[in-house]
Amino acid sequence: LGRLFGPITQLSGMQELFQTVVVSFSRVFELLDLKPLIQERPDAVKLDKDVAPDIEFENVSFRYPTADEVSLASLEHLKAKRERGEVTPDVLRDVSFHVQAGTLTALVGPSGAGKSTITHLVSRLYDPNSGTVRVGGHDLRDLTFDSIREAVGVVSQDAYLFHDTIRENLLYARPTATEDELIEACKGAQIWDLIESLPLGLDTVTGDRGYRMSGGEKQRLAIARLLLKEPRIVVLDEATAHLDSESEAAVQRALKTALRSRTSLVIAHRLSTIREADQILVIDGGGVRERGTHDELMAKGGLYAELYHTQFADPRINEAKPEREDEL
Ligand code: ADP
Ligand code: MG
Repeated sequence: LGRLFGPITQLSGMQELFQTVVVSFSRVFELLDLKPLIQERPDAVKLDKDVAPDIEFENVSFRYPTADEVSLASLEHLKAKRERGEVTPDVLRDVSFHVQAGTLTALVGPSGAGKSTITHLVSRLYDPNSGTVRVGGHDLRDLTFDSIREAVGVVSQDAYLFHDTIRENLLYARPTATEDELIEACKGAQIWDLIESLPLGLDTVTGDRGYRMSGGEKQRLAIARLLLKEPRIVVLDEATAHLDSESEAAVQRALKTALRSRTSLVIAHRLSTIREADQILVIDGGGVRERGTHDELMAKGGLYAELYHTQFADPRINEAKPEREDEL
Protein backbone atom coordinates (compact mmCIF):
# COMPACT_ATOMS: atom_id res chain seq x y z
CA LEU A 1 0.00 0.00 0.00
CA GLY A 2 2.78 2.37 0.86
CA ARG A 3 4.15 2.02 -2.62
CA LEU A 4 0.85 2.73 -4.21
CA PHE A 5 0.00 5.69 -2.04
CA GLY A 6 3.41 7.27 -2.04
CA PRO A 7 2.97 8.59 -5.55
CA ILE A 8 -0.61 9.64 -4.90
CA THR A 9 0.51 11.73 -1.95
CA GLN A 10 3.13 13.41 -4.08
CA LEU A 11 0.77 14.00 -6.93
CA SER A 12 -1.79 15.66 -4.70
CA GLY A 13 0.30 18.82 -4.94
CA MET A 14 -0.19 19.03 -8.67
CA GLN A 15 -3.44 20.77 -9.26
CA GLU A 16 -3.53 20.43 -12.96
CA LEU A 17 -2.90 16.74 -13.04
CA PHE A 18 -5.25 16.15 -10.18
CA GLN A 19 -8.05 17.88 -12.00
CA THR A 20 -7.64 15.44 -14.81
CA VAL A 21 -7.29 12.22 -12.91
CA VAL A 22 -9.33 12.81 -9.79
CA VAL A 23 -11.99 10.43 -10.98
CA SER A 24 -9.50 7.61 -11.47
CA PHE A 25 -8.19 8.29 -7.97
CA SER A 26 -11.68 7.78 -6.62
CA ARG A 27 -11.79 4.43 -8.35
CA VAL A 28 -8.47 3.34 -6.88
CA PHE A 29 -9.68 4.27 -3.42
CA GLU A 30 -12.93 2.46 -4.08
CA LEU A 31 -11.16 -0.70 -5.13
CA LEU A 32 -9.10 -0.67 -1.97
CA ASP A 33 -12.13 0.12 0.14
CA LEU A 34 -10.56 3.29 1.50
CA LYS A 35 -12.09 6.71 1.78
CA PRO A 36 -10.33 9.45 -0.15
CA LEU A 37 -10.12 12.83 1.57
CA ILE A 38 -12.40 14.47 -0.93
CA GLN A 39 -15.42 12.74 -2.32
CA GLU A 40 -18.18 13.54 -4.74
CA ARG A 41 -21.55 13.52 -3.09
CA PRO A 42 -24.04 11.11 -4.63
CA ASP A 43 -26.44 14.03 -5.11
CA ALA A 44 -23.78 16.45 -6.41
CA VAL A 45 -25.03 19.04 -8.88
CA LYS A 46 -23.44 20.58 -11.97
CA LEU A 47 -22.29 24.15 -12.02
CA ASP A 48 -24.44 26.26 -14.34
CA LYS A 49 -22.50 26.64 -17.60
CA ASP A 50 -24.05 29.91 -18.69
CA VAL A 51 -22.79 32.15 -15.92
CA ALA A 52 -19.34 33.45 -15.04
CA PRO A 53 -19.21 32.17 -11.47
CA ASP A 54 -18.02 34.16 -8.48
CA ILE A 55 -15.72 32.72 -5.80
CA GLU A 56 -16.36 33.11 -2.11
CA PHE A 57 -14.32 32.03 0.90
CA GLU A 58 -16.25 32.17 4.15
CA ASN A 59 -14.27 31.70 7.37
CA VAL A 60 -12.07 29.08 5.76
CA SER A 61 -9.50 27.31 7.90
CA PHE A 62 -7.31 24.61 6.52
CA ARG A 63 -4.36 22.42 7.38
CA TYR A 64 -2.71 19.95 5.03
CA PRO A 65 -3.37 16.31 5.81
CA THR A 66 -0.35 14.33 6.88
CA ALA A 67 0.91 11.70 4.42
CA ASP A 68 -0.51 9.12 6.74
CA GLU A 69 -3.97 10.63 6.55
CA VAL A 70 -3.88 10.83 2.79
CA SER A 71 -3.16 7.15 2.50
CA LEU A 72 -5.26 5.70 5.28
CA ALA A 73 -7.86 8.31 5.98
CA SER A 74 -11.06 6.81 6.95
CA LEU A 75 -12.87 9.59 8.74
CA GLU A 76 -12.64 7.57 11.95
CA HIS A 77 -8.89 7.43 11.67
CA LEU A 78 -8.69 11.18 11.09
CA LYS A 79 -10.91 11.90 14.04
CA ALA A 80 -8.89 9.66 16.32
CA LYS A 81 -5.71 11.43 15.31
CA ARG A 82 -7.24 14.77 15.99
CA GLU A 83 -8.39 13.62 19.41
CA ARG A 84 -4.85 12.55 20.18
CA GLY A 85 -3.73 16.00 19.14
CA GLU A 86 -1.65 14.76 16.21
CA VAL A 87 -2.36 17.45 13.71
CA THR A 88 -0.42 19.53 11.23
CA PRO A 89 -0.60 23.28 11.81
CA ASP A 90 -3.32 25.40 10.26
CA VAL A 91 -2.09 26.90 7.03
CA LEU A 92 -5.17 29.08 6.50
CA ARG A 93 -6.99 30.66 9.41
CA ASP A 94 -10.43 32.14 9.08
CA VAL A 95 -9.99 33.37 5.52
CA SER A 96 -12.93 35.26 4.02
CA PHE A 97 -13.09 37.09 0.69
CA HIS A 98 -15.25 37.44 -2.38
CA VAL A 99 -14.16 37.51 -6.03
CA GLN A 100 -17.00 38.92 -8.08
CA ALA A 101 -17.80 37.19 -11.34
CA GLY A 102 -15.67 38.50 -14.20
CA THR A 103 -13.17 40.32 -11.98
CA LEU A 104 -9.52 39.77 -11.16
CA THR A 105 -8.22 39.33 -7.65
CA ALA A 106 -4.47 39.32 -7.03
CA LEU A 107 -3.01 37.47 -4.07
CA VAL A 108 0.23 38.89 -2.74
CA GLY A 109 2.26 38.14 0.34
CA PRO A 110 5.50 36.62 1.50
CA SER A 111 6.57 33.12 0.54
CA GLY A 112 4.83 30.51 2.69
CA ALA A 113 1.91 32.85 3.45
CA GLY A 114 -0.73 30.47 2.08
CA LYS A 115 -1.39 31.93 -1.38
CA SER A 116 -0.98 28.70 -3.33
CA THR A 117 -3.00 26.87 -0.70
CA ILE A 118 -5.93 29.18 -1.38
CA THR A 119 -5.78 28.20 -5.06
CA HIS A 120 -5.69 24.50 -4.10
CA LEU A 121 -8.99 24.93 -2.32
CA VAL A 122 -10.56 26.71 -5.30
CA SER A 123 -10.01 23.68 -7.52
CA ARG A 124 -11.03 21.43 -4.63
CA LEU A 125 -7.79 19.58 -4.28
CA TYR A 126 -8.69 19.59 -0.61
CA ASP A 127 -11.70 20.54 1.45
CA PRO A 128 -11.41 23.15 4.20
CA ASN A 129 -11.37 21.87 7.77
CA SER A 130 -13.90 24.54 8.62
CA GLY A 131 -15.72 27.23 6.70
CA THR A 132 -16.96 27.14 3.13
CA VAL A 133 -15.60 27.69 -0.36
CA ARG A 134 -18.35 28.64 -2.80
CA VAL A 135 -18.26 28.89 -6.57
CA GLY A 136 -21.25 30.36 -8.36
CA GLY A 137 -23.11 30.26 -5.05
CA HIS A 138 -22.54 26.51 -4.56
CA ASP A 139 -20.50 24.97 -1.79
CA LEU A 140 -17.75 23.21 -3.77
CA ARG A 141 -18.60 20.03 -1.88
CA ASP A 142 -22.03 20.05 -3.53
CA LEU A 143 -20.66 20.19 -7.08
CA THR A 144 -19.62 17.32 -9.32
CA PHE A 145 -15.89 16.84 -9.84
CA ASP A 146 -16.47 17.13 -13.56
CA SER A 147 -18.11 20.51 -13.39
CA ILE A 148 -15.37 21.89 -11.12
CA ARG A 149 -12.68 20.57 -13.43
CA GLU A 150 -14.46 22.02 -16.41
CA ALA A 151 -14.96 25.46 -14.87
CA VAL A 152 -11.50 25.98 -13.39
CA GLY A 153 -8.30 26.32 -15.41
CA VAL A 154 -5.00 26.38 -13.56
CA VAL A 155 -1.48 27.30 -14.56
CA SER A 156 0.96 26.88 -11.70
CA GLN A 157 4.69 26.72 -11.20
CA ASP A 158 4.82 22.98 -11.65
CA ALA A 159 3.04 22.13 -14.85
CA TYR A 160 2.45 18.44 -15.35
CA LEU A 161 2.75 16.59 -18.64
CA PHE A 162 1.50 13.13 -19.35
CA HIS A 163 3.88 10.70 -21.01
CA ASP A 164 2.12 11.08 -24.31
CA THR A 165 2.33 13.20 -27.44
CA ILE A 166 2.24 16.97 -27.21
CA ARG A 167 -1.00 16.78 -29.16
CA GLU A 168 -2.66 14.53 -26.58
CA ASN A 169 -1.36 16.71 -23.77
CA LEU A 170 -3.10 19.66 -25.41
CA LEU A 171 -6.29 17.82 -26.25
CA TYR A 172 -6.91 17.15 -22.55
CA ALA A 173 -7.85 20.80 -22.36
CA ARG A 174 -10.26 20.73 -25.31
CA PRO A 175 -10.82 17.30 -26.86
CA THR A 176 -12.60 18.77 -29.88
CA ALA A 177 -9.87 21.26 -30.79
CA THR A 178 -8.94 21.44 -34.47
CA GLU A 179 -5.36 21.44 -35.72
CA ASP A 180 -5.60 25.20 -36.27
CA GLU A 181 -6.83 25.80 -32.75
CA LEU A 182 -3.97 23.76 -31.33
CA ILE A 183 -1.45 25.74 -33.36
CA GLU A 184 -3.08 29.04 -32.41
CA ALA A 185 -2.90 28.21 -28.71
CA CYS A 186 0.74 27.12 -29.03
CA LYS A 187 1.57 30.36 -30.78
CA GLY A 188 -0.12 32.38 -28.04
CA ALA A 189 1.90 30.49 -25.45
CA GLN A 190 5.14 31.02 -27.41
CA ILE A 191 5.76 27.30 -27.79
CA TRP A 192 4.90 26.82 -31.46
CA ASP A 193 8.37 27.61 -32.81
CA LEU A 194 9.80 24.86 -30.66
CA ILE A 195 7.13 22.31 -31.57
CA GLU A 196 7.45 23.11 -35.24
CA SER A 197 11.19 22.53 -35.06
CA LEU A 198 10.75 18.97 -33.76
CA PRO A 199 10.78 16.26 -36.47
CA LEU A 200 7.44 14.87 -35.26
CA GLY A 201 5.91 18.23 -34.35
CA LEU A 202 2.75 17.88 -32.30
CA ASP A 203 3.16 14.10 -32.39
CA THR A 204 6.40 14.23 -30.40
CA VAL A 205 6.16 12.19 -27.24
CA THR A 206 7.02 14.19 -24.10
CA GLY A 207 7.96 13.09 -20.62
CA ASP A 208 10.93 11.40 -19.01
CA ARG A 209 11.14 8.73 -21.67
CA GLY A 210 10.42 11.10 -24.52
CA TYR A 211 11.33 14.68 -25.35
CA ARG A 212 12.18 16.22 -22.01
CA MET A 213 10.76 19.69 -21.79
CA SER A 214 12.42 22.30 -19.63
CA GLY A 215 10.49 23.99 -16.84
CA GLY A 216 9.79 26.97 -19.06
CA GLU A 217 8.63 24.79 -21.96
CA LYS A 218 6.28 22.83 -19.73
CA GLN A 219 4.88 26.01 -18.37
CA ARG A 220 4.26 27.35 -21.87
CA LEU A 221 2.48 24.13 -22.78
CA ALA A 222 0.32 24.52 -19.67
CA ILE A 223 -0.50 28.04 -20.82
CA ALA A 224 -1.41 26.69 -24.27
CA ARG A 225 -3.78 24.30 -22.50
CA LEU A 226 -5.36 27.17 -20.64
CA LEU A 227 -5.82 29.13 -23.87
CA LEU A 228 -7.53 26.09 -25.42
CA LYS A 229 -9.69 25.41 -22.43
CA GLU A 230 -11.07 28.94 -21.97
CA PRO A 231 -12.24 28.15 -18.45
CA ARG A 232 -14.69 30.44 -16.67
CA ILE A 233 -12.44 30.59 -13.64
CA VAL A 234 -8.74 31.17 -14.23
CA VAL A 235 -6.17 30.47 -11.54
CA LEU A 236 -2.62 31.58 -12.24
CA ASP A 237 -0.01 30.73 -9.65
CA GLU A 238 3.17 32.43 -10.81
CA ALA A 239 2.25 31.14 -14.23
CA THR A 240 5.20 32.68 -15.99
CA ALA A 241 7.81 32.19 -13.28
CA HIS A 242 9.97 29.87 -15.40
CA LEU A 243 9.97 31.95 -18.56
CA ASP A 244 12.73 34.18 -19.80
CA SER A 245 11.69 37.81 -19.93
CA GLU A 246 11.40 37.84 -23.72
CA SER A 247 8.89 35.02 -24.04
CA GLU A 248 7.24 36.16 -20.85
CA ALA A 249 6.30 39.49 -22.37
CA ALA A 250 4.61 37.73 -25.30
CA VAL A 251 2.88 35.14 -23.13
CA GLN A 252 1.56 37.90 -20.91
CA ARG A 253 -0.33 39.36 -23.83
CA ALA A 254 -1.98 36.03 -24.62
CA LEU A 255 -2.84 35.52 -20.96
CA LYS A 256 -4.30 38.94 -20.70
CA THR A 257 -6.74 38.11 -23.47
CA ALA A 258 -7.51 34.79 -21.79
CA LEU A 259 -8.33 36.58 -18.55
CA ARG A 260 -10.76 39.01 -20.10
CA SER A 261 -14.19 38.74 -18.48
CA ARG A 262 -13.17 35.60 -16.57
CA THR A 263 -13.28 35.29 -12.83
CA SER A 264 -9.58 35.22 -11.99
CA LEU A 265 -7.38 34.56 -9.03
CA VAL A 266 -3.80 35.47 -9.81
CA ILE A 267 -0.64 35.10 -7.81
CA ALA A 268 1.68 37.36 -9.70
CA HIS A 269 5.23 38.46 -9.44
CA ARG A 270 4.58 41.36 -11.79
CA LEU A 271 3.58 44.64 -10.33
CA SER A 272 1.65 45.66 -13.43
CA THR A 273 -0.86 42.79 -13.00
CA ILE A 274 -1.31 43.54 -9.36
CA ARG A 275 -1.90 47.17 -10.16
CA GLU A 276 -4.68 46.32 -12.55
CA ALA A 277 -6.43 43.92 -10.21
CA ASP A 278 -9.95 44.82 -9.17
CA GLN A 279 -8.94 43.74 -5.70
CA ILE A 280 -5.67 42.88 -4.00
CA LEU A 281 -5.59 40.55 -1.02
CA VAL A 282 -2.48 40.67 1.10
CA ILE A 283 -1.99 37.23 2.61
CA ASP A 284 0.32 36.70 5.53
CA GLY A 285 0.48 33.94 8.11
CA GLY A 286 -2.52 32.18 6.58
CA GLY A 287 -4.91 35.13 6.80
CA VAL A 288 -6.07 38.13 4.79
CA ARG A 289 -4.20 41.06 6.32
CA GLU A 290 -5.21 43.84 3.93
CA ARG A 291 -7.50 44.23 0.97
CA GLY A 292 -8.07 46.98 -1.54
CA THR A 293 -6.79 48.37 -4.80
CA HIS A 294 -3.16 49.27 -5.37
CA ASP A 295 -3.80 52.95 -4.69
CA GLU A 296 -5.83 52.29 -1.57
CA LEU A 297 -3.22 49.97 -0.14
CA MET A 298 -0.33 52.27 -0.98
CA ALA A 299 -2.13 55.13 0.72
CA LYS A 300 -2.57 52.95 3.78
CA GLY A 301 1.19 52.51 4.11
CA GLY A 302 0.90 49.03 5.65
CA LEU A 303 2.09 45.57 4.69
CA TYR A 304 1.34 46.04 0.99
CA ALA A 305 3.37 49.21 0.81
CA GLU A 306 6.18 47.34 2.52
CA LEU A 307 5.94 44.44 0.06
CA TYR A 308 5.85 46.89 -2.79
CA HIS A 309 9.26 48.13 -1.80
CA THR A 310 10.77 44.71 -1.07
CA GLN A 311 9.19 41.84 -3.03
CA PHE A 312 8.14 43.78 -6.12
CA ALA A 313 11.43 45.59 -6.34
CA ASP A 314 12.46 42.58 -8.46
CA PRO A 315 15.08 43.62 -11.01
CA ARG A 316 13.01 41.90 -13.73
CA ILE A 317 10.25 44.42 -13.21
CA ASN A 318 11.16 47.34 -15.33
CA GLU A 319 8.43 49.85 -14.98
CA ALA A 320 10.32 52.42 -16.93
CA LYS A 321 9.73 50.60 -20.21
CA PRO A 322 6.33 51.58 -21.56
CA GLU A 323 5.94 48.46 -23.74
CA ARG A 324 5.79 46.44 -20.58
CA GLU A 325 2.78 48.23 -19.21
CA ASP A 326 0.39 45.61 -20.52
CA GLU A 327 2.20 42.68 -18.97
CA LEU A 328 0.87 40.55 -16.21
P1 ADP B 1 2.71 30.58 -0.69
O1 ADP B 1 2.10 30.10 -1.98
O2 ADP B 1 2.10 31.85 -0.18
O3 ADP B 1 4.20 30.69 -0.78
P2 ADP B 1 1.82 28.01 0.32
O4 ADP B 1 0.35 28.08 0.23
O5 ADP B 1 2.52 27.23 -0.73
O6 ADP B 1 2.41 29.49 0.44
O7 ADP B 1 2.25 27.38 1.70
C1 ADP B 1 1.68 27.77 2.95
C2 ADP B 1 2.20 26.84 4.02
O8 ADP B 1 1.72 25.53 3.79
C3 ADP B 1 3.71 26.73 4.08
O9 ADP B 1 4.08 26.68 5.42
C4 ADP B 1 4.00 25.42 3.39
O10 ADP B 1 5.15 24.83 3.89
C5 ADP B 1 2.78 24.60 3.73
N1 ADP B 1 2.47 23.62 2.66
C6 ADP B 1 2.33 23.89 1.34
N2 ADP B 1 2.00 22.79 0.64
C7 ADP B 1 1.93 21.78 1.55
C8 ADP B 1 1.63 20.37 1.48
N3 ADP B 1 1.31 19.79 0.31
N4 ADP B 1 1.67 19.66 2.62
C9 ADP B 1 1.98 20.25 3.79
N5 ADP B 1 2.26 21.55 3.94
C10 ADP B 1 2.24 22.33 2.84
MG1 MG C 1 3.02 29.61 -3.80
